Amino acid sequence: MTPGVRPLIAGNWKMHGLAADGLALARAVATGGAAIRAELVVCPPATLVSAVAAAMAGGPVAVGGQDCHAAAKGAHTGDIAASMLADAGARFVILGHSERRAAYRETDPTVRSKAEAAIAAGLTPIVCVGEPEDDRLLGRAEEVVAAQIAGSLPPGFGAAGGVVAYEPIWAIGTGRTPTEGDIAAMHAMIRARLVAAFPGQGEGLRILYGGSVKPGNAAAILALPHVDGALVGGASLVAEDFLAIARAAG
Ligand code: PEP
Repeated sequence: MTPGVRPLIAGNWKMHGLAADGLALARAVATGGAAIRAELVVCPPATLVSAVAAAMAGGPVAVGGQDCHAAAKGAHTGDIAASMLADAGARFVILGHSERRAAYRETDPTVRSKAEAAIAAGLTPIVCVGEPEDDRLLGRAEEVVAAQIAGSLPPGFGAAGGVVAYEPIWAIGTGRTPTEGDIAAMHAMIRARLVAAFPGQGEGLRILYGGSVKPGNAAAILALPHVDGALVGGASLVAEDFLAIARAAG
């Protein structure tokens, strides 16, 4: 945890949730979230952003999207502009998740353009970075993530209070996590890059860890230096688990 920084616990629901169960999950998180110090955000599928935001209005839990287009509007069938997410009640948007980098071949410049669009629409971008297992095994994890940081964050990222989520690809949904030492080393490297890129701002930007965060490992991970919260996938679909992770942030 970085002293003086309010932790952020973000739930990525991915492609899970119809109206009834999504709203029930959101309400359960909102009820339990009132007593929690960490800032909370849930990122439902786009179809539920508006309804979840309406249900959460005035409460302790913010809403985010899981992606947006880089353009403000136009002929982009099936895509969603950042301003549309904001209009639906979102305050955050996850960008460059490894599932999108893999399935839609999103590159660092794409992610950077999306982050620019998100900031222009008043959203806080949560930009995901993380290495494949091969690069970890070859000792290249920090090099790969440093390149993603250099390529994915636009100039306005620091002033906008942008969030970086370090998510080793091989840890997502697998139940495996890096060692605490490896997480701490990666977050320290990311902090150094943020401080260099955004002088006067990089010290306070939040760096989340993501990848198989569960109630059982959250406290140890969240206690590491420069780990300012978590991006939670599977465990965010169970309100009690998500809330337990949030409580572990202190
Ligand atoms: C994710 O996909 O962002 C993620 C962290 O998933 P999980 O927590 O399920 O590993």
